[in-house]
Amino acid sequence: MAPRPAPKRLVVLDAGHGGKDPGAIGISGTYEKSVALAAAYELRRQLEASGRYRVEMTRERDVFIPLEGRVGFAEARGAALFVSMHADALIDHGVRGASVYTLAPTASDPQTAQLAERENSADRFAGPQYHGLSPVVAGILASLVRRETRLGSARLARDLVGNMDPAVPMLPNPARHAGFVVLKAADIPSVLVEMGFMSNPQDEAALLRADHRARVAAAMKRAVDAYFAAADHMTRMAS
Ligand code: ZN
Repeated sequence: MAPRPAPKRLVVLDAGHGGKDPGAIGISGTYEKSVALAAAYELRRQLEASGRYRVEMTRERDVFIPLEGRVGFAEARGAALFVSMHADALIDHGVRGASVYTLAPTASDPQTAQLAERENSADRFAGPQYHGLSPVVAGILASLVRRETRLGSARLARDLVGNMDPAVPMLPNPARHAGFVVLKAADIPSVLVEMGFMSNPQDEAALLRADHRARVAAAMKRAVDAYFAAADHMTRMAS
């Protein structure tokens, strides 16, 4: 009798922002929330086409979801991976390229600290019951995330950088970390990908193109493949 095929892994894709929260607004008026959703749809298409994954999206349309709701969505479904997709803005419009973020109690650099503050403040759109968490609280959350989850997140981040570079223009030192609230699931390896910056005209123009989003998604899919291939290898070695 043929062995039963392995159950498909569940990958949760989180298109950043949405609804009353537009995210960053590009030089030519593009909303980050739209680019993030279009890229998440493309990555879902490519992951599902491989036949190896189930994919769910925290949002499939232009709707606001608090950060806690995004984490809870992945936790409730027992996701194997959580990937939050963004294209934010920086004060320096010259900065361009993709970058990958994991959760840590302290930021890797001032630019990332600024980015995390901006991402965490998305909940200001949710009303008085939600408050963007302070960096101190985010640090406490980071320390509660299990060690295996932290290691898995770091491995996924490395796979992402390794597969995106050089297919996609990258920020210098593209693997960075800070207290991103949306990455706080204790048991799910989680990363946040900035596919580029809306504050940079070249990045904005690229992300508006379907062929560029397909290239970004293809690189991210290769990283997901590499992540699970290594995980399977480690499981076999351990058994
Ligand atoms: Zn964002």
